[in-house]
Amino acid sequence: MQRYSVFSLLRNSLSYHEQWQQAWRNPEPKRQYDVVIIGGGGHGLGAAHYLAKDHGITNVAVLEKGWLGGGNTGRNTMTVRSNFLREASVPFHEESLALYHGLSKELNYNLMVGKRGMISFLQSSGASRIATQMANTMHIYGARYEMMSLEEIKRRLPIFEPPADTRMPIVGGVYQPDATMVRHDAVAWGFARSADSRGVDIIQNCEVTGILRDKGGITGVETTRGTIKAKKVGMAVAGHGSVVAAMAGLRLPIVTQPLQAWVSEPIKPVLDEIVVIRNYFGTYLMQSDKGEIVIGQGCDPYSSYAQRGTFPIIENASSAMLEIFPRFKRLKLLRHWAGMLDMTYDGSPIISKTDIPGFYIDVAGSGGFKTTPVAAKTHAHLIATDQSHELTRDLGLNRFGTGHLVVEGGVSANH
Ligand SMILES: Cc1cc2nc3c(=O)[nH]c(=O)nc-3n(C[C@H](O)[C@H](O)[C@H](O)COP(=O)(O)OP(=O)(O)OC[C@H]3O[C@@H](n4cnc5c(N)ncnc54)[C@H](O)[C@@H]3O)c2cc1C
Repeated sequence: MQRYSVFSLLRNSLSYHEQWQQAWRNPEPKRQYDVVIIGGGGHGLGAAHYLAKDHGITNVAVLEKGWLGGGNTGRNTMTVRSNFLREASVPFHEESLALYHGLSKELNYNLMVGKRGMISFLQSSGASRIATQMANTMHIYGARYEMMSLEEIKRRLPIFEPPADTRMPIVGGVYQPDATMVRHDAVAWGFARSADSRGVDIIQNCEVTGILRDKGGITGVETTRGTIKAKKVGMAVAGHGSVVAAMAGLRLPIVTQPLQAWVSEPIKPVLDEIVVIRNYFGTYLMQSDKGEIVIGQGCDPYSSYAQRGTFPIIENASSAMLEIFPRFKRLKLLRHWAGMLDMTYDGSPIISKTDIPGFYIDVAGSGGFKTTPVAAKTHAHLIATDQSHELTRDLGLNRFGTGHLVVEGGVSANH
């Protein structure tokens, strides 16, 4: 793994970076691999890293139709949290938090992991009840989740001035001290560099256009750069799960919806914590290291592959924010963007084998940045051993047949 000294930084800056060593190779695809991973986002690159590191499987290619992290990995709002309702969810998300906190060291790459804490405003008795239930499940697993009075919120969040006349009165709050922010691009780049240094081929501008199978199962993939044979194929293509699975003849229980976010001009530091307003849509905001206020909300409520959202969501989220933080009313918006989420019917991810031997899927679901390391690790485990990891036993595809859903939809406001 390459390291840079002060002198190499100086030399490279003076030589216009022409001698700069590439962080990963740019290999031609081989005709055959043991494992092909479709999708060069955090989940796919992470799976390749863990296949190599945990299982010694290095004859692996990651195929990405665009550039690394150019999908949802580079578009999300970088929030990592574990406040969930179900027993199948909390340990999975707690493990992800734990992995994130060790990942900069493991990858020798600064992921800018920062514990920020998250305060959720509760604006109805229903939201309070769900928060209490979440707290109960989380406490079973040793996760911290604390109910807050308005006075405590005010103490922790000096810019909050309890308004007298909100549409929905604020009945209190709930605090996850361990909620964290992680630099999203760095996750893709760190995993890519590590996987590459262990022998994995990362192939960009290589779209998978077909999945090849015979009676025995998967035999490879068809791509824009030719046919590539593989004994096993893992899919990690958030936002395109239905499209890629259909190439193998599979219909997944998911709907693809746009999710958008936007940022203000930078201002001086005023907001340490991530703030969630648990109204109907789940508006959230935080301040970036650059000083911008980053704002988002739940998905647009329709199915689409267009990477753009609609104005009513911006209007709704902004008005929810301004009710609670009226002093933000003069902020100017700088940028706005969107991505696509493969939403499952229960709001939980799918990490699963399929009916096709050798074809494995990681469907990130509603908020898959936070799960990137744990999903990648458990997906790699599944591919390597053909057995579900203990953390994902309840997250298989079969739950949509048996009815044992892991229902988080509607309660996980902040993606
Ligand atoms: C605006 C926004 C805010 C968000 N905020 C958060 C947040 O704060 N916290 C959180 O936990 N989650 C958040 N998310 C969700 C999160 O970004 C995604 O769930 C997560 O990044 C998915 O990672 P991935 O690696 O599975 O997918 P991606 O990063 O989307 O990677 C999949 C890759 O597959 C590639 N691909 C697709 N089809 C093919 C093909 N046929 N052949 C080859 N390659 C293909 C794509 O080009 C893409 O690069 C947010 C999402 C958005 C859009």
